[in-house]
Amino acid sequence: MKTYIVLLGPPGAGKGTQAQKISETWSLTHISSGDIFRENLKNQTELGQQAAGYINRGELVPDDLTIAMIRERLSRVDCANGALLDGFPRTPAQASELTRMLFGFGGKVNAVPYINVPETVLIERLTGRWTCQAQGHVFHAKFNPPKEPGHCDYDGSDLYQRDDDKVETVTRRIHVYLEQTQPLIDYYRQRGTLLEVDGAQPIEKVTADLLAALVKIKSAN
Ligand code: AMP
Repeated sequence: MKTYIVLLGPPGAGKGTQAQKISETWSLTHISSGDIFRENLKNQTELGQQAAGYINRGELVPDDLTIAMIRERLSRVDCANGALLDGFPRTPAQASELTRMLFGFGGKVNAVPYINVPETVLIERLTGRWTCQAQGHVFHAKFNPPKEPGHCDYDGSDLYQRDDDKVETVTRRIHVYLEQTQPLIDYYRQRGTLLEVDGAQPIEKVTADLLAALVKIKSAN
């Protein structure tokens, strides 16, 4: 039985942090579309060059490029039992393509945990975010500080502030989210897979709520 979980929420909802916990608990490969794009930017691949302008402006990379990238990633052996998707789908077109794609892999979207956070909280959160150079672990100057300032707790590498975590870009990303990604909440609610969690709580409480909500699919499988 394959399990595919789609983690939904606005930029700054803590998807990356929560995805790490869910993927550990569920032994599912964590696939972050944003991390894959950043990796491609860093390595200056063709995909990275095609996506760079969109990412730096805080816009979405076109659907065809993004969908092809995710299809390739999901077809790898470490996704044989399913995957936890973080940052994909982000548009209705990506969502319907995902349904088709997973059908081809012999699965479906089993659950869509949605981390709901009021808009007012998001900007403060995003502009304080620091990411580790080596593996993309995420910290926050105020809400989730690293034990040693400037260094990752997990691998010791330097922390940096992503270009797209600057104030103007953050505002843009929230706007793009409201316009293009928010419709997916209804899309999945109508399909009975949405599991809404209050994301304005402490990180550990959000994790506990997410894991408790996901138990439902364990019993359904
Ligand atoms: P994230 O780390 O998920 O916020 O992603 C960073 C950036 O990568 C986004 O602002 C987009 O430019 C791009 N990106 C990530 N996922 C997608 C997606 N599913 N569709 C289009 N662009 C994406």
